[in-house]
Amino acid sequence: MADTRTPNAANINDTAVEELRSRVRGTVLRPTDGSYDDVRKIWNGIINKHPGVIVQCTGAADVMAAVNFARDNELPLAVRGGGHNVSGNSVCDYGVVIDLSPMRRVRVDPFNGTARVDGGAKLGDVDHEAQAFGLAVPVGVVSATGIAGLSLHGGMGFLTRKYGLTCDHILSADVVTANGKMVVADAKNNADLLWALRGGGGSFGVVTSFEFKLRPVGPDVWMCIVMYPVAEAKNALNTWRKFMETAPEDVMSIAIYWNAPHEEPVPKEYQGAPVIVLAGCWSGPVEKGEAVFKPLREVATPAVDLSGPMPYLVAQKLFDPEYPDGRRYYWKSIYLKEIDAAVIDMLSDYAAKRPSSLTSIDVWCLGGAIGRVKPEESAFFKRDAPYMLGIEANWEDPKDDELNISWTRSLYKDAEKYSPGGMYFNFPGFLEEGDDLLKQSFGTNYERLRQVKAKYDPQNLFSSNLKISGKA
Ligand code: FAD
Repeated sequence: MADTRTPNAANINDTAVEELRSRVRGTVLRPTDGSYDDVRKIWNGIINKHPGVIVQCTGAADVMAAVNFARDNELPLAVRGGGHNVSGNSVCDYGVVIDLSPMRRVRVDPFNGTARVDGGAKLGDVDHEAQAFGLAVPVGVVSATGIAGLSLHGGMGFLTRKYGLTCDHILSADVVTANGKMVVADAKNNADLLWALRGGGGSFGVVTSFEFKLRPVGPDVWMCIVMYPVAEAKNALNTWRKFMETAPEDVMSIAIYWNAPHEEPVPKEYQGAPVIVLAGCWSGPVEKGEAVFKPLREVATPAVDLSGPMPYLVAQKLFDPEYPDGRRYYWKSIYLKEIDAAVIDMLSDYAAKRPSSLTSIDVWCLGGAIGRVKPEESAFFKRDAPYMLGIEANWEDPKDDELNISWTRSLYKDAEKYSPGGMYFNFPGFLEEGDDLLKQSFGTNYERLRQVKAKYDPQNLFSSNLKISGKA
């Protein structure tokens, strides 16, 4: 269907905006308002979009008013949870942004082992509240990431092999759909919508609040963080692969080509030097962690070994400083079948020609509990891939945009031959997914997703996310 919505913010009807203001408790911003420029910006510095109206919602009532406003005025619409999606699809030009950042409340019910979480909450909000009870929702590894985008597209982190994806923990959701009404999606009501929200993305409505199942974690976990000079990369990756083949599910691990930080306790000679990092989290009995990770810490003489026990809350923020607001980011991810000599050669070659020393190449070991949910049980289909490659180009200077983006695309292209197909939709910068990639990634779930889309959003109001077209 052709998109007939106006591409001109100036065309937005002032009277309609005033009426919207009278309906919402939060703040409605237009380009002439003082804080507009700060609020329109998101985490990724290469995204520079100018919405016509930003509605900073304080609750479901505001979200309903904003959805009605966008639909009735035929304006493009984007929904912002934590604003951390690399592609910048939580903001749009000309149209309406529903900004959920004022909605970050988390309420833990320790007796039922559940948490009620607002749609604008960050991972750190959830971790903080849940850990007070020795509990956690398995989420990602950087605390400023939004829980909504992360869980709607899957959600992987230190607890994934033990407990599964974040989306596997969504028990119910309050969703404002395209008709401006709120529905509850749970096992009894609108179960088809709940199924789609578990990994199918944000194309079906605005989730104002989630109910998650909680798991026991911590308070301490044992973290392996050992960095070897990059000359040891092949050796380290081979050891890592063998180790992960038989590692217990309490171990989650990522191998990372990176540059060591310019700070203590990294020895002076390695500060800023290319390294391979073997990072892992042991969430079993903490006193066993040191013995479990021994093989990963004895590959060669490390550049630095920062491993040790620490509170889960600290582990969840370890990577935060590497992803500051406003830096330039372009990422892609692709599943891998194997980490063999050919793959290691390819990764080492690309690591050597990274255009920016801030860039990393991350190899995630998957498996474990991800595969215990059947592919058809939720929209998240690709549950059997053993590894995922995260290609993370991070840089500072706008004049390096082209270089960094083409390096990322080139590695992605070369990695395709080692992939079982499909993309993890939480990582791609700029959505370029065509129907084929959606089909590969959602497999036999794709047709069902199209049916859910047609039922809850037949006019494709929520179009800034994955381009799932409703069934004709
Ligand atoms: P936003 O940018 O706010 O939104 C992303 C998409 O989700 C948009 O299309 C939006 O419309 C939709 N959406 C957001 N909120 C809602 C809502 N309430 N209702 C309906 N739709 C909504 N992923 C992992 O799996 N594991 C990791 O460890 C991990 N680490 C990361 C670290 C960093 C620094 C960053 C930037 C990303 C990381 N990611 C990780 C990827 C991350 O999960 C995705 O980028 C995710 O989409 C971010 O969620 P958000 O709410 O911040 O997204």
